[in-house]
Amino acid sequence: MQTRHGFSTFDISEIESNELYKYFKEFKGLEKYCEFVGCTHIKEPVCGIKKAVEEGKIDKLRYERFCKIYEELRGKVW
Ligand SMILES: [Zn+2]
Repeated sequence: MQTRHGFSTFDISEIESNELYKYFKEFKGLEKYCEFVGCTHIKEPVCGIKKAVEEGKIDKLRYERFCKIYEELRGKVW
């Protein structure tokens, strides 16, 4: 389960979807630029993390991985 996403230090099944961004160290601190508290960083139009991806400050592939894991956490597919 852990190696599927390339994570080895924690079990993603124990993460709440709204806390996932905390595990992406380059996302840290950017949530203060989000319009809403509790931003999912997925669909919100004004989002500090999405903005950083657009500006090239966050690797697009990392963000895509974040989205993918987020969806899995929401769906609890396992
Ligand atoms: Zn956001």
